[in-house]
Amino acid sequence: MLESHGLRSQVLALCLTVAVASAFAAGSARASEEFVLLKLDGAYVKWGEPVLGTGATVRYAFVIEEMKFSGVRNCEAMTPLDAPLKHFAIEPEQLHSETAAAFAMWERAADIRFLAVADPAEADILIGGQLAPKGRAFANVASRNDAGSTRPIDRALICLNQTLPWKIGFGGDANAYDLRYTIAHEIGHAIGLNHPGPSGQLMAFKYGEGFRALQAGDTDGAVALYGNRSGTTTATLPARRAPQPSGMGLR
Ligand SMILES: [Zn+2]
Repeated sequence: MLESHGLRSQVLALCLTVAVASAFAAGSARASEEFVLLKLDGAYVKWGEPVLGTGATVRYAFVIEEMKFSGVRNCEAMTPLDAPLKHFAIEPEQLHSETAAAFAMWERAADIRFLAVADPAEADILIGGQLAPKGRAFANVASRNDAGSTRPIDRALICLNQTLPWKIGFGGDANAYDLRYTIAHEIGHAIGLNHPGPSGQLMAFKYGEGFRALQAGDTDGAVALYGNRSGTTTATLPARRAPQPSGMGLR
């Protein structure tokens, strides 16, 4: 979720408890603020193998007809974005290219690949509007109920409030959020990251227009989950970021 005011962490798990943020990088106070791994029901969550620092390939699609999901909050009923965004002079092609650019940010950061697929039934991450619009944007992450300190994500939903103003790029209407920035933020949740704080990183919970790219903490968080971009991963992580799921979490 991305809010301009206040903290309302609403990253939820399907059929699980509300996500509780738990700082992962325990090496220093500063590090713990740079990224926070999402925890669902006490476990880290990621796509692919449930082992921190290992790569994954994830498929995403746009909702093309109304879809309902039981046990989900905020994104429980999703609707296509194409037509509503035209009210803000955003064409479907632009929605798709801005979304691709948002996924590409994360692809450049860590060993994770995203494939756009046309059929929502084949997608791991679904993107759409809200049948009952509220808030600004949400991500809903569901993990499998496997045992272990890291669990595989089963599905993630990203829903935007299509009735509020949207734009492409910064500046202009101060009430409109940049589509690419917002989707990139929600993708961060959809791949296993939580809010590190109010500002300074793309995963921070306050919307801002100071940067339109991942910051160092965002990249470090993605690398902690998926390994670095070359796929050679954990051995090159700084010692303080080495994946040590047991006993590393700060409460
Ligand atoms: Zn958020």
